[in-house]
Amino acid sequence: MSVGTVEQRYETVVGLEVHVELATRSKMFCSCPTDFGAPPNTQVCPVCLGLPGALPVPNARAIEYALRAALALGCEIDRECRWDRKNYHYPDLPKGYQITQYARPLARHGTLRYAGGDGERSVRIRRLHMEEDTGKSTHEGMPGGTTGVDLNRAGVPLIEIVSEPDIRGPEDARLYLQSLRTVLLYTRVSDVKMEEGSLRCDANVSLRPVGTQAYGALVEVKNMNSFRSVQRALEYEVHRQAAALDAGERIVRETRHWDEKRGVTFPSRSKEEAHDYRYFPEPDLGPCALTEAYVEQVRASLPEAPGARQARYERLGLPAHDAGVLVADPALALYFDRMLAGGAAPREGASLLTVELLGRLNALGVTVGESGCRVQPEQLAALQELVASGVISGKIAKDVLDEMVAGGADPQAVVARRGLQQISDDGAIVDAVRSAIAVNPQSVADFRAGKKQALGFLVGQVMKATKGKANPAKVNEILARELG
Ligand SMILES: [Zn+2]
Repeated sequence: MSVGTVEQRYETVVGLEVHVELATRSKMFCSCPTDFGAPPNTQVCPVCLGLPGALPVPNARAIEYALRAALALGCEIDRECRWDRKNYHYPDLPKGYQITQYARPLARHGTLRYAGGDGERSVRIRRLHMEEDTGKSTHEGMPGGTTGVDLNRAGVPLIEIVSEPDIRGPEDARLYLQSLRTVLLYTRVSDVKMEEGSLRCDANVSLRPVGTQAYGALVEVKNMNSFRSVQRALEYEVHRQAAALDAGERIVRETRHWDEKRGVTFPSRSKEEAHDYRYFPEPDLGPCALTEAYVEQVRASLPEAPGARQARYERLGLPAHDAGVLVADPALALYFDRMLAGGAAPREGASLLTVELLGRLNALGVTVGESGCRVQPEQLAALQELVASGVISGKIAKDVLDEMVAGGADPQAVVARRGLQQISDDGAIVDAVRSAIAVNPQSVADFRAGKKQALGFLVGQVMKATKGKANPAKVNEILARELG
């Protein structure tokens, strides 16, 4: 007999282990290329195949990328971090061991802050270490029942980011992961695409009765391939564990796989179950020797962090949601910064960018920062200024933007060539108003009889007669006077 909802009875404790493929051109310990999608086993050499006598040489760019990620997460850096061998047998691991960092990881004690479901969340990062990826097993295109092994991925540089068990539920896990992805996007060390495997996530989930401190048995959930599947898999797991606990069963410590189609997790035998990896120091590699000056140089090269950027946009008067839309995509945020530098007003500029420009680009299947986007941020800023200074109306601005998107034209040139300047000259508007009144006696009568919507019709007629170029405020004012 259980009382209350699952959430009222149990606290969910989640820790995430995230693997991120670094976007270096060559592998972690050899010069093999890392291009995605090459024919199987064409990007290999004696080092990443683990042939006798081959010696690993660390990739300085990979270490720099790992350091960028660690600093962006506010970690403490171990400047003399070490390499270790993690030993296990699996077909996709040609050497029989993986070079990783065990006792002395690159970084520890970081923090990730993000907007949670109810207020700001802060999750501690336990450690961030470097390692090499394994190969891939595949059944695709293989004769019945056999397994192929592609070692192109073996040796590709990875970082593993391990959180403390500070995550409090399925939705929180998704938000943590999305926020981690944004931070990494800004550091430009990875393209962090879950669907392509450059961002992979395993979750450790346990439940404990509300009010208790001891952790329950850990269940590791694997094979979640999207942000949505992380949330769904954890929702399933929380309810499965709660039902077992309610029935008086004990939770077994195990690894379970998420089945996206069936929407369930199921226990799986995997290489991770052999928990004795016999870690020992990698004899072929010395400790890293990162100087303080180097660490500080990398720190100084980091772009403004997403949290700081969000706060800056809000100080400029952007609603939190709008600022969040910009910050979530570094290309969009950089575009917006160039608009600001080009003189755009923050609120109006943000709306022109996220509603008008993005709407048009979405229809073309491109986004800002791509060659398909022919509108430069400075041009969009100039368009916003033309509206702000009353040269064109907001309605006309949309037509001008259509032409800018299609042809990469300057807004001033489009306005001048097509004669789109707003008519603010009273004489011209008075003429248009008088003729609208003269040819629409019924509307005038309706308005005088108290039908307010008749005024809107007359405004529309004037705008039509002036091809949308009349200043709407002036039209309203003059119509009211002429009818009054
Ligand atoms: Zn190689």
